[in-house]
Amino acid sequence: MTATSGNGERLYHVDGELVPASEATVSVDDRGFRYGDAAFETLRAYGGSIFEWEAHADRLEASCEILALDHGLSRETLRSRIDETLAANDLRDAYVRLSITRGVQPGKLTPDPVVEPTVVIWVKPLPRGGVDATPVWDGPATVRTVETRRVPDVAVPARAKTHNYLGAILARLEGRTVERGSGSTAGGADTAGDAPPDEVLMLDTDGYLAEGATSNVFVVEDGVLTTPTTEGPVLPGITRRVVLDLADDLDIATRETRAESETLDTADEVFLTNTTWELRPVRRVDGRQFDTGPVTNRLRERFDELVERRCY
Ligand code: PMP
Repeated sequence: MTATSGNGERLYHVDGELVPASEATVSVDDRGFRYGDAAFETLRAYGGSIFEWEAHADRLEASCEILALDHGLSRETLRSRIDETLAANDLRDAYVRLSITRGVQPGKLTPDPVVEPTVVIWVKPLPRGGVDATPVWDGPATVRTVETRRVPDVAVPARAKTHNYLGAILARLEGRTVERGSGSTAGGADTAGDAPPDEVLMLDTDGYLAEGATSNVFVVEDGVLTTPTTEGPVLPGITRRVVLDLADDLDIATRETRAESETLDTADEVFLTNTTWELRPVRRVDGRQFDTGPVTNRLRERFDELVERRCY
């Protein structure tokens, strides 16, 4: 099922054409490269269909609106380019990254309203999802809370999913360098020694829990499922929304709120969500260990059933 261009290479979609990975390039003058002036979506294909396509297309539209990036491509065109890329690579279960940059506008920071976007679709194979699927992760996540704060909405709105992930990168770098036993790790690095955590959690500038570098966070306490509200600087994750809806179906009480960081000290269960991981249980936050609990398990099971029903 591996991709081919005739010599075994994957094919990517660049500005309307399928090209072998080694020839897939963008200009050094591209604003996506120069400034991170671009919007993107990470999507997942299960059994050949894109899970939650409309929600991803809506979020991409919202990101482009915030950036005033008028790329002029319909969602049907974008979707057919994704489908073409999957078909050309003979992929049914895949990670898909769709990027739209403001293109080449050399010489000035102020964006030109006339845009010739650069549109790239990048894919890689993933295992099958749905019932009895193998998760893409190795096991429940180790997590550290970091001092690096989530960029506030008044600076860069979190609901714009842009190429600029510097805040998240700095948070991951900080997570990697937390000393054994220092600060909130309360006597411990992870059981795997000094291995970097699988994810870091950032607070907002008011000290409330925000999100992971590339994931949303959920905590369960006394049977109530709580996640930070998107009124704070939190990306409106597509998986986050699906999980909240599944919880409603299961009559699990949910709360979207400005969560205190101390919530993590009293929680019974913690898990993370994103498109690639789906729901990933957390086994450790700083010095505190967690078992994968019943609410996480029920939601994971429901999520897998939903994927199975919709996509296979
Ligand atoms: N927050 C951030 C900062 C992210 O990068 C991601 C991954 N896109 C998420 C949350 C999870 O969003 P989704 O469920 O749509 O993948």
